Amino acid sequence: MAKKIAVLAGDGIGPEIVAEAVKVLSFLNTDMALGLSFETALVGGAAYDAFGTPLPQQTLNLCKNAEAVLLGAVGGPKWEALPHAVRPERGLLSIRSELNLFSNLRPAILYPQLVGASTLKPEVVSGLDIMIVRELTGGIYFGQPRGIRLLENGEQQGFNTLVYNESEIRRIAHSAFKTAQKRHKKLCSVDKANVLEVTELWRQVVTEVGKDYPDVQLSHMYVDNAAMQLVRAPKQFDVIVTTNMFGDILSDIAAMLTGSIGMLPSASLDANGKGMYEPIHGSAPDIAGQGIANPLATILSVAMLLRYTLNQPEAAERIEQAVNTALDAGARTPDIYSDGTTQVSTSGMGDAVLNAL
Ligand code: ATP
Ligand code: MG
Repeated sequence: MAKKIAVLAGDGIGPEIVAEAVKVLSFLNTDMALGLSFETALVGGAAYDAFGTPLPQQTLNLCKNAEAVLLGAVGGPKWEALPHAVRPERGLLSIRSELNLFSNLRPAILYPQLVGASTLKPEVVSGLDIMIVRELTGGIYFGQPRGIRLLENGEQQGFNTLVYNESEIRRIAHSAFKTAQKRHKKLCSVDKANVLEVTELWRQVVTEVGKDYPDVQLSHMYVDNAAMQLVRAPKQFDVIVTTNMFGDILSDIAAMLTGSIGMLPSASLDANGKGMYEPIHGSAPDIAGQGIANPLATILSVAMLLRYTLNQPEAAERIEQAVNTALDAGARTPDIYSDGTTQVSTSGMGDAVLNAL
């Protein structure tokens, strides 16, 4: 039976970049007889316009029945005034929690062809290849109670709750140690154990789980120091594991080290390796419809899909190699353009990768 891939293009540049990623995956599907079938559905603002909800039941059903989900991006100014419950972003959060995608893998790789595009000195970032494993379905973004309340003295008080159960920490720790085993076997767990009890528990559970992975070298770092070290000497890291909010912030720092947000893929996985794959950037409404968006983050997300869900590392490496070849040949969308290279459109970049394949 064919393995179904749910394709959710979403809003803004979503449809443009997803079209290029599907072009690349379709080619490999035929070339390597991967046995994949594709089915599309609406999500985000596009789904709200059609059905009044950012995550229609038929889209959720498709995601649940599919092997993996390939997503573009959601949101845009058109839907910004909507109530939180039906905002496009809510569609994404719901898929994550409905499918239990608790482990978010965000590689930050600096392609040697783009060293000049980073904000840091070449000697600090060249050869950079780190992986941030962010807990995605717990922590302060989901903790109860939360809200804004009126105190007796008449002033307002805003509050959120940072909670992690032992089991939630244990499963993200296993995911991170397994990721480290497939890489350079170094894991740094980031917390704020000197101030927050919940991350004291985090440190304790991660250390305990580490006993199952004696081949992985575990270290711990406070989040403020980790932020500094990421900018000062990022190559000291191999894999970083951290909470939902710390991971959100640290992965944006890591993204900036690599030059363009248009180059960075991500995977969000459940306990069995089922997952959703998407670029880390948003729907980029400022450049939507112009054919200038960089599709490489989405194409590299397809490589992660092949590696982590379909167990096709060879196919994944072919894509990553083809991206390298396209960059070597000088193909550049405007976000990564520099003197001496050739400016190409979104589909031009897709074609460059396809030609390399
Ligand atoms: P979100 O809230 O969904 O994360 P955002 O407002 O933070 O969205 P993005 O949509 O990620 O931001 O866009 C940030 C900037 O990066 C914009 O100027 C956008 O044009 C640019 N950008 C994002 N993705 C790409 C891409 N694939 N190619 C080129 N530029 C991009
Ligand atoms: Mg953003």
